[in-house]
Parts: sequence; C-alpha cells; structure tokens
Amino acid sequence: MAHVLIVGGGMSGLSLAWYLKQLQKGWDITILEAEARVGGKAWTEREDGFVMERGVNGVLDNKPSTLELAAALGVTRIRSNDASRIRYVVRNGRLARLPDSPRAFFTSPVLSPYGKMRLVGEFFIPPGTGERDESLAAFAIRRLGDEAYRYLIDPMASGIYAGNPERLSLKACFPRIHELETRYGSLIWAMITLQKEARKAKKKGPSAGPGGVLTSFPGGMEDLASALRKALSEEIVLNAKVERVERDNSKWQVQLADGRCLSGTHLVLSLPAFQAARVVRPFSSRLSFLFSRIEYPPIAVCALGIKREKLENSLNGFGFLCPFCESRKVLGGLWDSSVFQGRAPIGYHLVRCLIGGMRNRHILEKSDHEIAGLAITELKALTGLKGAPDLVRVFRWERAIPQYHLGHPALVEEIGQWLSHFSNLFIRCNWIGGVSLNDCVLNSNILARKMTEGKNAIRF
Ligand SMILES: Cc1cc2nc3c(=O)[nH]c(=O)nc-3n(C[C@H](O)[C@H](O)[C@H](O)COP(=O)(O)OP(=O)(O)OC[C@H]3O[C@@H](n4cnc5c(N)ncnc54)[C@H](O)[C@@H]3O)c2cc1C
Repeated sequence: MAHVLIVGGGMSGLSLAWYLKQLQKGWDITILEAEARVGGKAWTEREDGFVMERGVNGVLDNKPSTLELAAALGVTRIRSNDASRIRYVVRNGRLARLPDSPRAFFTSPVLSPYGKMRLVGEFFIPPGTGERDESLAAFAIRRLGDEAYRYLIDPMASGIYAGNPERLSLKACFPRIHELETRYGSLIWAMITLQKEARKAKKKGPSAGPGGVLTSFPGGMEDLASALRKALSEEIVLNAKVERVERDNSKWQVQLADGRCLSGTHLVLSLPAFQAARVVRPFSSRLSFLFSRIEYPPIAVCALGIKREKLENSLNGFGFLCPFCESRKVLGGLWDSSVFQGRAPIGYHLVRCLIGGMRNRHILEKSDHEIAGLAITELKALTGLKGAPDLVRVFRWERAIPQYHLGHPALVEEIGQWLSHFSNLFIRCNWIGGVSLNDCVLNSNILARKMTEGKNAIRF
C-alpha cells in the first residue's frame, strides 16, 4: 500500500494531503511539519481585538481554488469592502490614486502626460521574439515605457514578490502576460480583443488590475489552516523537523532532527527550496544544488493599531505601494481594517507595512523598535499620523518569498529532469508553479490527481 510522506505543513503540503485523502481513501499519508503549528506563511495573530496577518493577507476570488477548498471544509469567507479597490502609489512623496478605468487613467496623477502617451503607444510596439527569458523590467520598459515601468510595474513586483524587477523573469512570474504578447502582439490589443470576446459570451472581461475580489476569513487566514489541521489531525506530525532524506531499496527514508526515522513509498517536498536543498543532499547533490539556486529575500511585517483620530487620512482604500525610485523606507502599507470587517476594534485602524525585500536585504539586522520606527515615519509623511500608534507588532520572515529570477523556467525544467531519476519523488511548494496561495492550492489539486492516477511522470 502507498505511504505518502509530505515534508512541510504549509498550505501547499496541507492542501495536497487533503486532496489525496479525498481521492484515495486507502493511502497512508503523513505530514511532517518542523514547527509546533501548521499553515506556514498563512499565520494570523489575534490580540486586543486586532486580527493581524503575519503573512498571507487574502486570496482573489477570480481563481477559485482556495475558496473552493474553504467551502469544502465548511470555512466561512469574508469579501473585502468595495472601497478596497481604491489603491495608491507614492509619486513625488504623496499618495496618488491608481486609475481603475480608462477615463480615470487620463486624469490620473500617477503618470505624466508623456508617460501616458508612451503607455498608449504600446499598441504600436512590435512584439518581442518571445524566446529568450526576459526580465520584468526589460519587458515593461520595452512595451510600456520607463515611467509606467517605474510607477506601475515596479511597485506591483514589490507587492507580490518583494522582488527586483530587473532580476525577475517575466515568463516565470507573469506567464499570462508573456502569453498575451506572444499571441496578440500587443497587450492593449489583447485587452480589446478579450473584452470583445467576453461581451459576446456575456462573461466578465479581463482587467488591467489584479482582477477579482480579495477574500479572507473572519478570523484571518488562520481559519483555513485550522480547518485543514482538524481535517488532517491523524495525518499531521508536529515538531517533526526533517534533517535528511535517503533512498533505501524502493523506499524513502526520512530522518527527523529528534532522531526518529520514517519510511514511505512516496516523498513530497513541500518545504522551502533552501530547506529542500539541505534534506536531499544525501541522495542527490545535483538536486540540492539546483534547489539552492532559488533566492528568498527577508521581509518584516510591521502591524500598527492606531486610534482613528490620530490619522488625517481616512484610509479609504486598500493601501499604497512605494515605487523603488521614490526611495521610501517601506515597500508599502496595507490598510487592513479598511479592507476587511473586524480587523480592528471600533475606533481603531489596523495598518500593516511591509519592509525589506530583494533591494533592502539587511532589514532584519535592525531591532523591532527600529523597524517600527521606519513604518511610523512613513505613515506620518504619507497618511498624516499624529503621535504614537497604540499597538505595534513586528513579524520577521528571514526568507520570505521565493524569487522566480531570470533562468527560473530553465531551472524548473532541469529540476524536472533530475526528479525523473528517482521514482515517486515530488515537489509541491510555492517555489514552483506560482507563489500565490491560489496557485499553491490549485497545483496541489492537480498533483494529487496525477499521483493517484499513477501518472508519475508529472513531478510538481
Ligand atoms: C509576508 C508574506 C505575505 C504574503 N501574502 C500573500 C497574499 O496576500 N496572498 C497570497 O496568495 N500569497 C501571499 N504570500 C505567499 C504565500 O504565503 C505562499 O506562497 C503560500 O502560503 C506558501 O505556502 P507553502 O506551503 O508553499 O510554503 P510555506 O508556507 O513556506 O510552508 C512550508 C512549510 O515547511 C515547513 N518546513 C520548513 N523546513 C522544514 C523541515 N526541515 N522539515 C519539516 N517541515 C519544514 C515550514 O515550517 C512551513 O510550515 C505571502 C507570503 C509572505 C511571506
């Protein structure tokens, strides 16, 4: 009988186990999680009426994977408030509202008249060859112009990856955009064509923004992790840090830090790439090397609870992002209590600032007090904060989000080839196939189906 060992109890490992359990009743499944809790980057702190996310903030409902899983587990969801569709970027030291319609685009202060003309000129830019792995920055400057790159694309890369767009691979990070250029020649032409097709089919057309409604759960993302923990209570082993993995005859042998040893027929690596690199070294130095090439920047999340009267800005919106060229101290700020009901007690705001990323890699050398000081300085300058916040918490992620850098598509291909040398070895974590929670859950669903159908050529 199959015994599947899943190393890592983040949302990828948990959702994979859950789908496997639904699809194949007879299989033994064990999830080995290093920490005393499951959920990985989906982790909520609740204190004095504040609901603070250490990591994942929510999921968009236009990709239904996570919400379908939540519904199957009976977890109630909450939609973001309508105002949260209002987003800002910093331009010339002030918050400028991002346009959410073609008309708003022409009156928006986010781009200069020249920047707008250049962006519209995208229509006439010939398509690239589509073959080479182009950076997000090179692609955006080539198609949209330097200003749109700096004020629209660069902050988006910070918001999703905390990354450096000069190093991020367009093909790996935004495969859909790469596909639209290859297929339609121009992004604007692609939008027009797809809108027309959607109108004909009486469906919702594509949007230039993130699309979909941001959704979470009343107690934060932890609600989903807790529901999975309950549903998988017999499969989860906590405080089970895997140190090394070996292949012994036809079985996988897993050694834990406390000396325990387990064996299984199938092994799934659902832990971060740098950890995976460490545990696979005993049986494949090549895989270990390939995994170790994926970089992770540090991020500090600073949560601030603030009495409403201390802020000049009413925080009506989702929050703001800081383009790198504006040289701010934070990547951006999320106005959580404006986005979701119940995130702060009545009379208070909850704001979370994200600090660090690929272009600020020494952030965690600072003390919590210093990190909070950076967030407070920026809130004073950008939102008119007066006085001190009433609650301050700093959450640290030493290695936060995997970066899909130039060369990532080729790296993933090579990893796939090396995995095929070993039977029943799989990867399911956010460093392959998309970093968003929706991608993680969707990929877990797909992998569970392939595994139970015995399609072992598919390894992630
Ligand atoms: C600050 C931040 C904000 C984010 N916000 C969003 C958001 O709003 N929306 C969104 O869609 N995505 C967001 N993401 C991305 C999202 O968190 C992830 O892609 C997703 O949650 C990753 O889940 P995972 O299971 O693949 O990896 P992880 O969550 O990293 O889980 C890996 C698990 O492996 C365990 N582990 C590590 N080493 C070992 C070992 N040796 N033995 C056993 N277990 C081990 C870890 O403890 C962890 O539980 C955010 C990420 C961060 C860091």
